[in-house]
Amino acid sequence: MRSIAVVSGFTYNVNPARILFGLGASANVAAEVSSLGCSRALVLSTPFQASDAERLAANLGPVAVGVFTQAAMHTPVDVTENAMAAFEAANADCVIAVGGGSTIGLGKAIAYRNDAPQVVIATTYAGSEVTPILGQTENGLKTTVRHAKILPEVVIYDPELTLGLPVAMSVTSGLNAMAHAVEAVYAENRNPVTSLMAVEGVRALRDALPGIVENPESIEARSEALYGAWLCGAVLGTVGMALHHKICHTLGGTFDLPHADTHAIMLPHSAAYNAPAAKGEMQPLTDLFGSSIGGGLWDFAKSLGAPMALRELNVRDVDLDHATEIATRNPYWNPRPIESQAIRELLQQAFEGRRPE
Ligand code: NAD
Repeated sequence: MRSIAVVSGFTYNVNPARILFGLGASANVAAEVSSLGCSRALVLSTPFQASDAERLAANLGPVAVGVFTQAAMHTPVDVTENAMAAFEAANADCVIAVGGGSTIGLGKAIAYRNDAPQVVIATTYAGSEVTPILGQTENGLKTTVRHAKILPEVVIYDPELTLGLPVAMSVTSGLNAMAHAVEAVYAENRNPVTSLMAVEGVRALRDALPGIVENPESIEARSEALYGAWLCGAVLGTVGMALHHKICHTLGGTFDLPHADTHAIMLPHSAAYNAPAAKGEMQPLTDLFGSSIGGGLWDFAKSLGAPMALRELNVRDVDLDHATEIATRNPYWNPRPIESQAIRELLQQAFEGRRPE
């Protein structure tokens, strides 16, 4: 008989969520607004997706009482204040966010202030739609809050709405999603269910992203990627993140780097750093990518044409000492102790885009 071990104890706080997944799921927006007890929605988007937001509002008719298309990366507080004014001027009673993490962040920022119910139509793989976390910026400073009011009430995943996500963004956004799941398998407060979701999320994205690169209009690949993104986002919203997210947040904030690209570049290196300390937890991921998780993720990212080196993002090598200092300051819990010299070497590898050994 195979030997079995005692299941480690755990505490699992599940985020309440209503998820509608599938082709055509976005046709249900009006019914979802109504089931929340609402009837006057402010539709949100970035300027880039303004036409999607306008089209949705036109389809919704009187349920859409306004459209605000100025959502921006990192949720600047002055944009939120303008959106709050639009919400009040339209006498809205809920928000509908159509887009990626930037638009979703704006909807969350409104809900954090006035508890407006949120319907989110997620069109990237970043995962913000299923987390109770809001990062916002004011005077160049990004702060993060976690609160039940921030978690969107309804999330709609309609693969058709992701067909227009440019290939390069699909790749980096998909790797960003994978990074949530990679950190979830070794999270301090992981549990058997979050680990299953994390591995399945990475598996789905591993299978889907090459298909998107080959044919961005492949509905099969798009739906598989979105399914994986949901799983990866769900674990991001449930368990704690570690070294990888700490490095990406501090580098992103200090050097004003693009969010998804930074995650994409750093992931193989942070995974390689933690692999010796979380061998068992990471084994199912190693099995998905080959003999070494860091090298396997690096090969995978390269095969997709992802950015591979921090220097491509205009980080300079003279910045690396400072980057090490801020990445190691007030560290998040991490399975492997944070060793400054090893983090400096990790950043050097990521700067040059070298394959981690
Ligand atoms: P994004 O929302 O900034 O989108 C990038 C651009 O792509 C935007 O112009 C957007 O309108 C456009 N776009 C999005 N989907 C599209 C589609 N299907 N077709 C065509 N264009 C599309 O990018 P993101 O990576 O999703 O979000 C990044 C932001 O989200 C960052 O500010 C990050 O901090 C935040 N974030 C927050 C959490 C959280 O839990 N709080 C999680 C992940 C990311």
